[in-house]
Amino acid sequence: MPPEKQPMALKSLDNLFVHFLRDMYHAEKQALRQMRMLARKTDNEELKELLETHREETEGQIERLEKVFDHLDMRARGSTCEAIVGIHEEAKEILEEAADEATRNAGIVASLQAVEHYEIARYGTMVEWAKSLGHDEAAKLFEETLAEEKATDAKLSKVARKHINEMAKSRSREDAGKGGNGRKAA
Ligand code: FE
Ligand code: FE
Ligand code: FE
Repeated sequence: MPPEKQPMALKSLDNLFVHFLRDMYHAEKQALRQMRMLARKTDNEELKELLETHREETEGQIERLEKVFDHLDMRARGSTCEAIVGIHEEAKEILEEAADEATRNAGIVASLQAVEHYEIARYGTMVEWAKSLGHDEAAKLFEETLAEEKATDAKLSKVARKHINEMAKSRSREDAGKGGNGRKAA
């Protein structure tokens, strides 16, 4: 393995902090790509709008991460976030398998919420670590991002509750009539 590919040894909270910073730098960039892809795959206008808003926020979140690298006097660079790659693969699978728009939209919301929850978990930890390490500016920046991720998660639930889940539900009732969802008719 060439030396630059050798994973950094994690010997302290400092190391972990940098490791997660790079992980999130990669994750946010992947999230941008995923949002672009999913916005093209949904016919739900509200969901499209929500994606557009969060896409813009995400660009700001990437800039915040770059500021943190800057504070640490480090060059901004990402390292592969396997979690976001996995969520993205799963999203593609759902899109391929969803047989109609309504079911696809419910699946898209689920994929997007998986990303937001991952981000909430990571930024929650990063805020605490930044505080503990005395990186006050980083803590403040991560708190701003964390608030956006939480708000996005809540908006996704709201959009799903309004139309998407009901529409996907009535689809499964139609299908059940035809024995289409694999369940035995009652
Ligand atoms: Fe984000
Ligand atoms: Fe990760
Ligand atoms: Fe997000």
